[in-house]
Amino acid sequence: MKILFYDTKKIELDYLSEKIPNTIEPYFFKNVLNSSTYIDEKYLNCDALSVFVSSSLDSEVLSKFKNLKFIFLRCVGFSNVDLKYCKENNIYVFNTPNYGNSTVAEYVFALALTLSKKIPQAKESIINGDINQDTLRGVELYSKTMGVIGVGAIGRKVINIAHGFGMDVLAYDVIKNGAYNFVELDELLKKSDFISINCPLNEKTRNLIDKIAISKMKRNAILINTARGEIVDTQALYYALIENKIKGAALDVIECEEYFCQSWKKCNNCTELKDICLKKFFFIQKMLQLPNVIITPHIAYNTKEAQERILDITLKNISSSFNISYGANNLVLI
Ligand code: NAD
Repeated sequence: MKILFYDTKKIELDYLSEKIPNTIEPYFFKNVLNSSTYIDEKYLNCDALSVFVSSSLDSEVLSKFKNLKFIFLRCVGFSNVDLKYCKENNIYVFNTPNYGNSTVAEYVFALALTLSKKIPQAKESIINGDINQDTLRGVELYSKTMGVIGVGAIGRKVINIAHGFGMDVLAYDVIKNGAYNFVELDELLKKSDFISINCPLNEKTRNLIDKIAISKMKRNAILINTARGEIVDTQALYYALIENKIKGAALDVIECEEYFCQSWKKCNNCTELKDICLKKFFFIQKMLQLPNVIITPHIAYNTKEAQERILDITLKNISSSFNISYGANNLVLI
């Protein structure tokens, strides 16, 4: 089986080169795969593709691979794959669920603490020799309310940690599974001091947090998004922040990140950027100047331990694809 691995990091190259079964013919590429990626003709007959979230597998890209049977996502989310096209063309899609529930949940709190304790400003004040305890005063997580949107594998870990900090928790999900304090979204937005987005991107959650949703939040609310950028309307968030309608935002994921996250600087002159993404980029650049905003380049998952689990699960997915008729794990789509 010939597999093309895109967006391959060094740790992945080292690990996969050593452990991949010798029945597999792997080809590793550093770059992402999307409609502007150059693909040498000799690779177009591959049996499988393996990508991370930054690749975009729409029908234009997928239709180039006439022999494609499998997609091995090295991530949980699958909003970057045209599943309808895959279903119509009998392409099996695997993801890597549960590789990093605690990993991402820990990062939610890294962001919450960094913002609420003003850690970047504190470091800056030491560098500038201008230390002012009045401007560096933070707030506590203890006894505040954490609102969790999406009580799945990661959301449940966020709730556990929130309880450890002595926080009250409000939960919102379309499926009310488990003994959590479920409320309607409006109530969560109105009552939470911290709001953590942990639902997948789909047609229902695209821009779920828009101008109207943000207008319902408390003035002291801190919004944390580690799920997918498109769940939050970037422009509405920017205006809410500069008009002090909410207190702060921490985003590990941003709209159009497949264009930005590889190289922010390069993308300043990126001619192939869609107009819509240029507009998002404008507001993201402006948000980066705000002291109450943290933006990171989709690294919540990125620990050594989680990366190894992703690769282990990917290898299992590859092996089980040989036995597909006996039932395989982690199939997003059959
Ligand atoms: P999961 O499938 O276990 O849980 C998602 C939960 O969201 C489910 O309980 C589901 O019912 C709920 N949900 C679905 N639609 C909803 C809606 N309209 N409103 C509210 N809730 C809704 O997924 P997970 O493993 O917890 O991951 C959640 C998301 O986190 C992934 O889809 C992915 O986008 C993102 N993620 C990000 C990183 C990162 O590095 N930043 C890493 C892993 C996952």
